[in-house]
Amino acid sequence: MVSFKISGFSSRIKYLLIVILTLLPFSAVLIFVGFIAYLPAFQAMDDMNKVVMKELVPLSELQRSLLNAAMPPNDYIIHKGDDEKQLFAKVGKEVDVAFLQLQAAYKDRPDKLETIKVAYTSWLHVFKDGQTLMSYVDHSDYDSANKAMEKFDANIQVVVDNLNQVHEKTQVELIRHNAQVVAMEDKGILITILAFVTTLIFGIFGSIWLTKRNKSLENQSMHDQLTGAFNRHACDEKFQDLTRTTVSLERKLFSLIMMDIDYFKSVNDTYGHQVGDEALKVVAHVIENHLRGSDFFARFGGEEFIIIIPGTEKHFAKEMADRLRIAIMETPIKASDEENIYITMSFGVAEFPLDSSNQTKLIDCADQALYKAKEMGRNQVVVYGERAKAEQPSAIAGEE
Ligand code: GH3
Ligand code: MG
Ligand code: MG
Repeated sequence: MVSFKISGFSSRIKYLLIVILTLLPFSAVLIFVGFIAYLPAFQAMDDMNKVVMKELVPLSELQRSLLNAAMPPNDYIIHKGDDEKQLFAKVGKEVDVAFLQLQAAYKDRPDKLETIKVAYTSWLHVFKDGQTLMSYVDHSDYDSANKAMEKFDANIQVVVDNLNQVHEKTQVELIRHNAQVVAMEDKGILITILAFVTTLIFGIFGSIWLTKRNKSLENQSMHDQLTGAFNRHACDEKFQDLTRTTVSLERKLFSLIMMDIDYFKSVNDTYGHQVGDEALKVVAHVIENHLRGSDFFARFGGEEFIIIIPGTEKHFAKEMADRLRIAIMETPIKASDEENIYITMSFGVAEFPLDSSNQTKLIDCADQALYKAKEMGRNQVVVYGERAKAEQPSAIAGEE
């Protein structure tokens, strides 16, 4: 059996501690997973989103405009139409605007901004080359136009390459952010599992402790502190147990012995309360040594004890009571270092359900028999409804 002790605290504090200790891992989940794993993961996701929206979208927009700008000069060589010239001028402006926007978006990213600026300078050349090659075509100077076309293509490739570099760098960043998010999520899951296991362990230990505590409280509520015997409350429960069972009334038969120390007041008066207590402990000890496993014994109150002997008729119970009476009578009680005293007890015996099947009435029967025993001079056993002694025929408990 697992056991642990929390000493030095009141029960209320201990209960509170158990609850707090059980809930602590949940708080750990909130704090750890929240602040150490999930919040950074959300932050990383947010960063990723910003990179995509602020950097990648304008970059892609520029790359698309650039592709559009590459078409009109090529078409112009073939068709020589003014439409292509106008389109080139229009798309050229779009590329200019897209470059300006991109430079604004990357103003906090100096490494990439440098590459974008290089691309922009190349683009300015590209635009000039485009216009030049169109002017050659106007003058039917096709050799110069073809050379200008090659220069145009080479320069536009420089622009594309530079922009691709920026694109790749941004993608590497996104992959890094994504790896961070995944790592944070793994961390979060691990901490959650740990917290769950810890909570489970605290929960198990907590309930073990509470169960033990409950058992010990239940035990305390059923026992008399001085003698360790069962108390009157436990006695009531025992009666209910014995009479509640579904077996037939005959098989529920049991005997009840009520016993009371004789002249106990004078023991207290003469030797003091502590010796009186000692006498009660000795009596309880002697009674316990005479009981079988199925017998029940309780301190009924003051110097009065009760024994229930299941399945036993009262004349057998009387024999047992007599053995007890003699044992108690012969057992010394330490009154001081020099002196031992001896006490006697009187007994009353009744039988269930013969004398009564009602708890209160049955106790009353045993009490009457006990009273008779006292009346007859004490230190004897009287059975309810039976003649106490041949030489004292009038001593029949229950008869007035
Ligand atoms: P009887 O033979 O008629 O029973 O006389 P008695 O003196 O035993 O009975 P009485 O009822 O006059 O006195 C019982 C005494 O038991 C009085 C009370 O102080 C004492 N007593 C009750 N409980 C305790 C206890 O826990 N410890 C001690 N030391 N004395 C107790
Ligand atoms: Mg007494
Ligand atoms: Mg009494």
